[in-house]
Amino acid sequence: SARIVVKVGTSTLTHTNGKLNLKAIDQLCYTLSGLVNEGKEVILVSSGAIGVGLGLLGIDERPSSIPQQQAIAAVGQTQLMTVYQRRFAVYGQKIGQILLTHDVVDYPTSHQNVLNTFENLLRLNIIPVVNENDTVAVDELDHHTKFGDNDQLSAIVATMTDADLLIMLSDIKGFFDKNPRKFNDAVLIPSINRIDEETFEKAGGQGTKLGTGGMVTKLKAAQKMLQANKSMILASGENPSIIFKLLQGDPLGTLFQ
Ligand code: ADP
Repeated sequence: SARIVVKVGTSTLTHTNGKLNLKAIDQLCYTLSGLVNEGKEVILVSSGAIGVGLGLLGIDERPSSIPQQQAIAAVGQTQLMTVYQRRFAVYGQKIGQILLTHDVVDYPTSHQNVLNTFENLLRLNIIPVVNENDTVAVDELDHHTKFGDNDQLSAIVATMTDADLLIMLSDIKGFFDKNPRKFNDAVLIPSINRIDEETFEKAGGQGTKLGTGGMVTKLKAAQKMLQANKSMILASGENPSIIFKLLQGDPLGTLFQ
């Protein structure tokens, strides 16, 4: 049976005012539960802990101090999981939380333990909901424990678990020949099978928004998938039920294959 990893970003899960986008979350839960009912194995990699934490605590701006961010993420993560649990339950779907650090890549014993957990959850038709363990993962410079961003985390999860496909839902319809937020005449690239320097140039460097990696980290994730002979689809997270259409082969978004 097909194994799919779906990654959603803060922009899909929250409105611009920081409040949870309950409609999008409902559609996501409905869609992923539907896929499990069809016999697919589904893993969800979800960002949003800090965004949700900020909203819940009524803090307007993301603080620069890392311990403060970790505290906010701790509040947001449990709230996010509560929302997921409630919404998935509506569709009879069970979930399990997996919080990772880079240790699962670096240490064979940790690696094996995580794989065992994934396999056993999937065997029980449970959707693992994955995020970085912000409490223990330290500073991005110390790559031994931090993944840095959930785009690359999702590609690592997909290759680790030998998933066939990574579906990345974003605030943009796909990968364009230049940044569509800067250039009106940017054209969507429907499919890509090689990522090189030129591709990265089209991504125009690091993302602009705080806490997100922009297109560069998405390309790095796609690169990981291609290297492992796997595919990735980048598409809009506006209506997460788009996943049904993507799996039917509708050419929405960008297919990296
Ligand atoms: P998310 O929060 O959904 O993970 P990001 O905001 O981090 O997404 O990254 C997507 C953003 O990358 C787009 O909104 C766009 O501003 C920027 N971007 C830069 N270059 C490109 C490109 N060539 N094609 C599409 N988006 C691009």
